Amino acid sequence: MPSNCGTSTSTAVVVDVDHTIGGCVAYARHRLPHHEADLLVSRSLDVPQSHLYAFGERTIAPVATTRLKDWITRRSAGEPIAYILSERGFWGLDLEVSPDVLIPRPETETLIEAALPLIGEEARILDMGTGSGAVALAIASERPRAEVTATDIEAKSLAICQRNAARLGLTVKTVLADCLEGVGVGFDVIVSNPPYVDDADPRIDQGDLRFEPRLALLGGPNGGLDFLARLIREATAGLAPQGWLCVEHGCDQGSPVARLFGQTGFEDVRGHLDLENRPRVTVGRWGSSTA
Ligand code: GLN
Repeated sequence: MPSNCGTSTSTAVVVDVDHTIGGCVAYARHRLPHHEADLLVSRSLDVPQSHLYAFGERTIAPVATTRLKDWITRRSAGEPIAYILSERGFWGLDLEVSPDVLIPRPETETLIEAALPLIGEEARILDMGTGSGAVALAIASERPRAEVTATDIEAKSLAICQRNAARLGLTVKTVLADCLEGVGVGFDVIVSNPPYVDDADPRIDQGDLRFEPRLALLGGPNGGLDFLARLIREATAGLAPQGWLCVEHGCDQGSPVARLFGQTGFEDVRGHLDLENRPRVTVGRWGSSTA
C-alpha cells in the first residue's frame, strides 16, 4: 500500500488511544494543535484541563474515547470547536450554539460596548437577528430592568436564544420576524449584528464560515450592504424619537454604512473600532429634528 506509507509513518507513534488520560492527550495532540487537543480531551472525559497533566496515568472508560475520536475527526475536517462542543463564551456568558446560529465573535463585543452607554436602565431594546441570543442576553445581563426583545427569521434560533436565556436566568422576549417587519414601534435602541458578508466573498467557503448559516452571514450582492441598507431604513419606523440604531458591519464597510445612516436622516453618526482597530460598529440617533 504505497499510498498509505506516509500516513502510517506519521501516525506510527500513536496508533490508537490507550485508555488512560495521558493516552488520550497524546492521541489528540498528535492530530490537532495542543490547545485544541487538550480542550477536546478535557471536555470529552469531563475532567478539568489541569487533570490532564496531573493524572495522566488514570484509566478511563473506553466509551469516552469514542466521543473523543469523533470530535477529533470533525475538528480535523474543519468543523468549528464551538459547534463540536455546542457552546461558546460571549461577554462572560456561556452560550449554547448550534450550526443553526452564527458563532458569537469577539468583535461583536464591540457592538455591546458601543450600545451600552446609550441604553438607560429601563430602556426598550430590540436585537434584530439574534441567533444564539448573544447580543440580547449580553444587554439583558447589563441592564436587568430593561425590556429586551430579540428577533430572528428562524424559529430554531429563537429556541436556542430562549434556552440560553432560561439557563442564564435572564428575560428576553422573542419575536419571529423578517428584519424589522411587524416588530413594533417605540424602541429606545435597536442593536444588530446583521448579515453583512458580500454574496461573492470567497471567505464564505473558508474556515469557520463554511459551517455557519448563510442566512446569518450573507448581506447581498452589493458589497454585502443590501441587508444593512434595509435595516437602517426599517429602523426609522421602529425607533422612538431620539432612539439609537447600533449595527455591526464589515471592517471595510464603515464609510458606506455611515453614508447610509446620514442619507436616511440619522444624526450624531459615529463609528467604533474593534479590538484589532478596524471600523466595526456604527451608531446613529434618529429623529432629533422631528422630536
Ligand atoms: N463577523 C463575521 C465575519 O466577517 C460576519 C458576521 C455577520 O455577517 N454578521 O466573519
